[in-house]
Amino acid sequence: MSARNWFWYIEFDTPTHAHMKGLKRIVYRHRSKYQDIVVAESFDFGLVLILDGKTQSSQKDEFIYHEALVHPAMILHGSPRRVLVLGGGEGATLREVLKYPTVEEAIMVDIDEDVVRISREYLRFMNEGVFEDRRVKLVIGDALDYVFSTKDKYDVVIADLSDPLEEGPAYKLYTVEFYRRVAEIIGDTGVFVTQATSPTNTPRTHAVIYRTVREVFRYTAYYHIFIPSFEAVWGFVIASNGRDPRKLESEHVDRELHRNNIKTRFYDGEAHKHMFSVPKHLREYIESVDEVSTVEKPIYMPA
Ligand code: SAM
Repeated sequence: MSARNWFWYIEFDTPTHAHMKGLKRIVYRHRSKYQDIVVAESFDFGLVLILDGKTQSSQKDEFIYHEALVHPAMILHGSPRRVLVLGGGEGATLREVLKYPTVEEAIMVDIDEDVVRISREYLRFMNEGVFEDRRVKLVIGDALDYVFSTKDKYDVVIADLSDPLEEGPAYKLYTVEFYRRVAEIIGDTGVFVTQATSPTNTPRTHAVIYRTVREVFRYTAYYHIFIPSFEAVWGFVIASNGRDPRKLESEHVDRELHRNNIKTRFYDGEAHKHMFSVPKHLREYIESVDEVSTVEKPIYMPA
């Protein structure tokens, strides 16, 4: 039996639930000021970015996550000019935002310049030229500070942040105080969307994020899609005080993608309908959770 020169990477979704990936090699590993950063080469998903032990994106299917995160909000707004991306280290969220001809300025605020540097060096397939685009302004800093100190207004705010890990840098950006401030900087016509962890692996975390956003915004909806490299159904929460995301029709999505000549691999009207069609048992559970995440009592990932 030839010696095996590869290994299993075990990723814990909760303390009692994990999934595994066969990795050929670790391409790069670094402990930044904020998190453990790994770029690895996997057999089935190509290059994978892992932060604090959680898969963030993979070469094979990152387009699913980033298109699902960005396009519903951009199309719901209709003509976004100024877009704010919170987190988004790999640059793929920016890549999707810049596909819209109406976008005049896209500001990305990531706390960890090492993630951005490493992504530009090892994950160029995600951010080819994005950071050189004249419409992009890259800010290295805590998105919490940025949101509370900015004097500007934004048409769309996209929270592409790490999960709310108790020891991680992102958990305060899943609180009602934070969402209240986001509502102020997007006003009545703006749209907010956030990644919201997995409705299947961490249902309570997902449901509390949804409930917390709903505490602030008049119109709030969750939507889900299976992401193979996460080995999980992944959840997103979209909200606005002026536009109801549940009213977004698939025909309108197709018309807007066509009108703007936007090329996607995953997202179109059919995919939109699928994402917003959540099974009964999940809807009933999510709607049953009445807990709001606050700075004093934040929601965390199960530890
Ligand atoms: N695709 C991932 C997912 O599935 O959720 C998230 C993408 S991205 C890698 C997450 C980014 O959030 C990281 O680059 C991390 O540095 C950034 N981040 C975490 N906490 C932050 C904070 N307080 N302010 C700004 N960026 C933060």
